[in-house]
Amino acid sequence: MSRLVMKFGGTSVADLARIRSAAERVRREVERGHEVAVVVSAMAGKTNELVGWVRETSRLYDAREYDAVVASGENVTAGLMALTLQEMGVPARSWQGWQVPLVTTSAHGAARIERIETERLEAKFAEGLHAVIAGFQGISPEGRVTTLGRGGSDTSAVAFAAALGAERCDIYTDVDGVYTTDPRITKKARKLAKISYEEMLELASLGAKVLQTRSVELAMRHKVRVQVLSSFADEPGTLVCDEEEIVESRVVSGIAHTRDEAQVTVAGVRDRPGIAAALFGPLAQAGVNVDMIVQNVSADGRTDMTFTVPIDDVPRALKALEAARERGEIAFAQVLANEDVAKVSIVGIGMRSHAGVAHQMFQALAAENINIKVITTSEIKVSVLIDRKYLELAVQALHDAFELEKAS
Ligand code: ADP
Ligand code: ASP
Ligand code: MG
Repeated sequence: MSRLVMKFGGTSVADLARIRSAAERVRREVERGHEVAVVVSAMAGKTNELVGWVRETSRLYDAREYDAVVASGENVTAGLMALTLQEMGVPARSWQGWQVPLVTTSAHGAARIERIETERLEAKFAEGLHAVIAGFQGISPEGRVTTLGRGGSDTSAVAFAAALGAERCDIYTDVDGVYTTDPRITKKARKLAKISYEEMLELASLGAKVLQTRSVELAMRHKVRVQVLSSFADEPGTLVCDEEEIVESRVVSGIAHTRDEAQVTVAGVRDRPGIAAALFGPLAQAGVNVDMIVQNVSADGRTDMTFTVPIDDVPRALKALEAARERGEIAFAQVLANEDVAKVSIVGIGMRSHAGVAHQMFQALAAENINIKVITTSEIKVSVLIDRKYLELAVQALHDAFELEKAS
């Protein structure tokens, strides 16, 4: 019998009526002869509420207890979904991460999946019971509940699809597919019929939160066919698949953005060999991930270093730099953080074989008088850091410049 993983995000299970209509979709697939593993998120807004409670209770919270609290949202929807299916005459059983078990690393709050032991699930499938799995959670080797980072139910879904040999992993959400850019930013955004793993991976890691980055990595590695589609409409979705399956040829496939990075400028650094290492060493030790970097031209033997870090890490980054200065490891005049920035990126496998794409991007931004603060590139993407107030304008200008509203 063929297997299917069906994942429902927060808005798709936001209340009992929506759980019922999601369950209805599951029932249809069961009637088509599939064995189904349903993966559910917490009800919309629930995870934010739980995170808020943890932070209010304890400023420097214990990450194990964070996970204990935050994983609970998915437990509720898993149980309710199993009950709803049973009421519809579909035999189903709910599973929390530890019950499967889905074993992860011990990195609480951002754990990675190590393995899924499928024997118990298989035994229940053999009894005719479909599975409803609480997404986003697992169990550490120490036996504690872990969570996989925000958006982690996507990763649970793909991991189960790989472990159970599912023919497809359907991700039901509040948009009917992957668009050329976040449809909340511009109405001109166009749904893509297919997108390659590589492009989706870049888009996700550059801020398109429609799929968690780790889920795309896993799908690419295990060749899981992922389909993104709407819980609320019967439209065909977007298939995330191998590059070879895609006939459309585009230079730029999509635009991603994020407001989650802040710009840090270390001014008046003495320009000598080894300063970059001296500066970024303490940041790495403090666990701060540096993304974009630019070193300005030096004058009088002094220079400015500008880079970006996740917004939540700004206090830690500043503390690490000040501490390194006090230890005499680095010398600088001052350090400034600016959170009013946004990163906008264009992504496309066509960039590999086309010159001038970055130039076209810079021109489109210049035409709107948008100043670029930092630039980074890789084989299939170009990212720029700009003032946050220009984010929408920049995305729209680039969408027009690369004619993304037109199918090619
Ligand atoms: P879920 O709760 O179902 O996991 P998410 O909110 O995590 O849903 O992801 C869906 C959202 O992703 C959409 O509402 C949309 O605003 C956003 N998004 C960002 N970039 C894109 C894109 N390129 N295509 C589609 N949606 C996108
Ligand atoms: N509920 C979790 C979150 O909001 C996981 C998910 O929905 O994917 O991040
Ligand atoms: Mg999500």
